Amino acid sequence: MTKSTPDSRAAMGARTRLVHAGRAPFDNHGFVNTAIWRGSTVLYPNTEELYARRQRFIYGTKGTPTTESLETAWSEISGAAGTVLAPSGLAAITLAMMTATKAGDHVLVVDSAYRPTRVFCDTVLKKFGVETEYYDPLAGAGVARLMRPNTSLVLVEAPGSQSFEMQDIPAIAEVAHARGACVAMDNTWATPLFFPPHARGVDLAIEAGTKYLSGHSDLLLGLVSANADWYPRLRETYDTFANCPGPEDVFLALRGLRTMELRLREAEKQALDFARWLQTRPEVSRVLHPALPDDPGHAIFKRDFLGSSGLFSVVLKPASRAAVAALLDGLELFGLGYSWGGFESLVIPFDCKTYRTATEWKPEGPALRFSIGLEDLDDLKADVERGFARLKKLA
Ligand SMILES: *Cc1c(COP(=O)(O)O)cnc(C)c1O
Repeated sequence: MTKSTPDSRAAMGARTRLVHAGRAPFDNHGFVNTAIWRGSTVLYPNTEELYARRQRFIYGTKGTPTTESLETAWSEISGAAGTVLAPSGLAAITLAMMTATKAGDHVLVVDSAYRPTRVFCDTVLKKFGVETEYYDPLAGAGVARLMRPNTSLVLVEAPGSQSFEMQDIPAIAEVAHARGACVAMDNTWATPLFFPPHARGVDLAIEAGTKYLSGHSDLLLGLVSANADWYPRLRETYDTFANCPGPEDVFLALRGLRTMELRLREAEKQALDFARWLQTRPEVSRVLHPALPDDPGHAIFKRDFLGSSGLFSVVLKPASRAAVAALLDGLELFGLGYSWGGFESLVIPFDCKTYRTATEWKPEGPALRFSIGLEDLDDLKADVERGFARLKKLA
């Protein structure tokens, strides 16, 4: 049986790569999937091998066949030189930021970044002498004005996972690289399937595998992939912290990987249909979804992205807190909860005003974020339609 290789698969489609990447059945007694390898200690055959430490696996924290399987597959679909894993998406963000900063540095972080990223910057990075400056998500090449001689890192995230501004990442990367700074991106929304990060100038690409890689709201995982410039420093930082995920979670992520494209494409289709329906509703003022042609970020989306996922927001017409609560609390199908990317639909109210510092968030009404799952769309629409009736009674 001839086996495909990462090279032979390079010209093949994303689905083919997802099915074959990171698997080596004949290293696993012919079984299709890599087993769950549990272990701390790895034995050496003799003292010479022990001193040399040149065998493939040397200790549990430094990798197992299970973790290597996911790292290899993720690098292949990301177009990366290498990948490291983390026990959560947030742990992947902090690992990437620790890789690219040192005391005395200045970092630029997009104002629409995932909120816990800001908390890390404002506490731990600050404590270790790294200064964070937040910048306008729409700045594009204008970040050049904010670059200082000690700017070591520019963090991008597009679209923002609540407010959905698009960023011109290739333009930002060009400016940052001209000044020798690293570009790290939280790419959780698009995944490498819909935004190939390293081909667009990103050095360190972060993914909360908790979302679409898992797809089932049953695990926490993070990944950081790197280009050839940054991979050695990323791996070294990973080895220093030894902040490694458990083998069951890595196994579940590998299972999710095989169907990720199918689930993403379905989430994209369902969310676009749902978003277009919301645009026709009198209760809705604006839909924030970069794949919609009238979205302010649509031109950049069309140029740089290969698809959209199931997460977007809406701004409602002005309504009281009680009216929004009546809408949300009575929903039968939508869960009220954080996170997203699972098979089930979720909704949350949000307000970026409480944490933004570089730009003002001033929507004309209350804002809601939807994660559209795999339910029948007519049922989801009917659920929200009944919610709008409750809203109107109190608005
Ligand atoms: C959820 C999320 C994370 C963090 O993932 P966890 O696994 O929950 O820590 C990071 N970035 C974005 C954009 C997210 O939505």
